[in-house]
Amino acid sequence: MSESGRRTPVNTVDRVAFRDMCAAFARREVAPRWEQADREKIFPRDFYVACAKAGLIGITADESVGGHGLGAYEEAIAMEELSRINPNLAVSVLVQNVAGSILYEYGTDAQRAIARQVIAGECMVAITVTEPEAGNDIQNVRTSAQRQGDEWVLDGLKSFITLAASADVLITLAQTDRGQGRRGMQFFAVPRNTPGVVVTPIETYVNRPAPTCRVAFNQVRVPDSARIPAGFREIMAGFNRERIMVAARWLGHMQHALDWAREYALTRHQFGRPIGANQSIAFQLANAHVDVDATRRLTYHAAEKWDSGCPVKDVILDVSTAKFFATQAVVRVTQTALHIGGGWGLTEELPIMRMALDALVAPVTVGSTEIQLRAIAKEMGLPVD
Ligand SMILES: Cc1cc2nc3c(=O)[nH]c(=O)nc-3n(C[C@H](O)[C@H](O)[C@H](O)COP(=O)(O)OP(=O)(O)OC[C@H]3O[C@@H](n4cnc5c(N)ncnc54)[C@H](O)[C@@H]3O)c2cc1C
Repeated sequence: MSESGRRTPVNTVDRVAFRDMCAAFARREVAPRWEQADREKIFPRDFYVACAKAGLIGITADESVGGHGLGAYEEAIAMEELSRINPNLAVSVLVQNVAGSILYEYGTDAQRAIARQVIAGECMVAITVTEPEAGNDIQNVRTSAQRQGDEWVLDGLKSFITLAASADVLITLAQTDRGQGRRGMQFFAVPRNTPGVVVTPIETYVNRPAPTCRVAFNQVRVPDSARIPAGFREIMAGFNRERIMVAARWLGHMQHALDWAREYALTRHQFGRPIGANQSIAFQLANAHVDVDATRRLTYHAAEKWDSGCPVKDVILDVSTAKFFATQAVVRVTQTALHIGGGWGLTEELPIMRMALDALVAPVTVGSTEIQLRAIAKEMGLPVD
């Protein structure tokens, strides 16, 4: 394993054929499920099982844990194609791949066995980091883990945990030594059915097919073997791969919105001609095309660099640039599409309002817009803290 849990891919695929396979899978497995999941705010677990069977969980994971040994590039292709149908069922794949990789990259043999189950479609995981008072400032997490003999006792409250209600294991960040800053923080693999773990839903306007929850840890006792034996910084560096997948997720979504708006502009007639015949509408679509194209180049460039095996510090600028641009662009593109939809765009008879709403979460999560700009400025050598 390379520095910060990064591997260079050991296998290759025909990327065109892989993309076709992912697109066909999305039409077959995402399309029939997402609307009901969105309405009921219940994640369909059989979708995760189907993803695992299709080889979409553990794409970059080592073959020793049942993974496929491919790169972030292929993982991004899968994320883009799934998100082209629905970004919220797609995010469930993102979470399994990112949380699963913490277990197989840094875990003990027993934790790697859990990763194997995740990849096989037998065990879901959730990333359990954010707290009500520690959003972007995750070094400020208050959940504590105190050693008592061979056990750790966890106390605290987490918020916005995607898929916590479905997950079997919660990959949880806690303070083990408050005075030690980052060095006093550890991740634990906590089975969700451990006594004292209480999961309650948070009602959101976004991400409804993969709901987010509060997770309370009330004197939760886990054995020392639940502690993931790697440092906070080491594991957090791996989260840069998540940001590439976030960019790919919103790339798929904005491509979908652009395709929809183009079609609408060609078929909706006013004043005796398609609305797309007006230069003012056509230019909005042309601008949206530039956003999509630029996002695609930035995203796959970051993925390629990640796969090159260079040190993580040399990829941060590319990753943050892609994440920043994609998450701003998806809001612009979906707002353009919504506007082109006119009054009908605001009804439930057309899909675009739902898509515009879903896009609003993009600049907020996995390091907000300002956090990405701060990272970019730092890489530029500016003296920001
Ligand atoms: C739908 C959804 C799903 C999520 N899933 C997960 C999950 O699975 N696991 C998990 O652990 N977390 C998850 N999160 C949490 C998510 O990553 C946090 O919401 C995010 O970190 C923002 O935290 P916050 O809402 O507390 O915002 P805050 O950190 O309070 O930020 C509020 C505003 O202040 C700005 N800001 C903050 N600090 C600075 C600064 N230093 N400089 C400039 N501006 C700043 C931010 O950019 C933002 O605009 C999810 C959130 C949502 C909404």
